Amino acid sequence: MIEDLTQKILNTNLEDPSLLDNTAQFQSKKLLPNANVVKIGGQSFIDRGKKAVFPLIKEIKENLPHHQMIIGTGAGTRARHAYSVGMDQGMPTGVLGLLGTFVSIQNAKMIHYLLTEEGVPYIEPGGFSQLPLYLKQNNAVIFFGMPPYTYWQRSPEIGKIPPYRTDTGCYLISEAYGTKNMIYIKDVDGLYTNDPKKDKNAKFIPSITAEELVERDLDDVVVERAVIDMMKSAKNGTQIQIINGLVPGNFTKALNGEKVGTIITSK
Ligand code: ADP
Ligand code: MG
Repeated sequence: MIEDLTQKILNTNLEDPSLLDNTAQFQSKKLLPNANVVKIGGQSFIDRGKKAVFPLIKEIKENLPHHQMIIGTGAGTRARHAYSVGMDQGMPTGVLGLLGTFVSIQNAKMIHYLLTEEGVPYIEPGGFSQLPLYLKQNNAVIFFGMPPYTYWQRSPEIGKIPPYRTDTGCYLISEAYGTKNMIYIKDVDGLYTNDPKKDKNAKFIPSITAEELVERDLDDVVVERAVIDMMKSAKNGTQIQIINGLVPGNFTKALNGEKVGTIITSK
């Protein structure tokens, strides 16, 4: 059977639907099934400064002996400023993506320097081949959450803001490595029917599937819509968890597999 498929892959148009369908029989290996990808929000978390960040760093340190963490960073308000100044001067989406990347790097550097004594390294996309080694040695790495599309960032259907930002970059790492969980650390308890900061009647949603979420067509959501869209065809990254990192202990609970916050699953 595999020989037939090999011949087909070599000789058929790679867009051929029956060929693509056949490749689905190959399971994607979970390369790091014990690791957690952890995204620390930019706007929602790091921008709040040490009041928010220091207690989380403490919680990260406490959990280092017990859990593997691939920690990605958001960009936040400084990136939004760069987008607005850049757009005003005619910068295309790809260039805006590059600008946002640098802000995400700034945040990753700060988190990295707060964890130097623990020996947690900062890695860039070219250094991901060392990721398994670093995890084995120190249980954690820091990376910048922006997917490295830079100029190759796809133009959005509406407007010019790069649609694949740090929520997406972190999610794609959990999809590629088949990690145990993808935890988003933000400043709200999880997903609501609307932005709880703007709508006092918004209702909390403890769990939902990506498909149901798309069907509900909410005005605003807590993670980039690109993540929800990608989850529909996830091979490994079939779960994300959004937690309020401002509440002490929430992060530890999520690492321990407890159902804190909102859990969004593919199916
Ligand atoms: P990050 O800092 O990780 O980029 P964002 O600030 O982009 O996070 O997204 C988190 C914010 O999304 C929350 O602080 C909340 O105000 C807002 N939000 C919008 N819609 C929702 C929703 N339906 N449920 C929960 N939060 C929402
Ligand atoms: Mg965001």
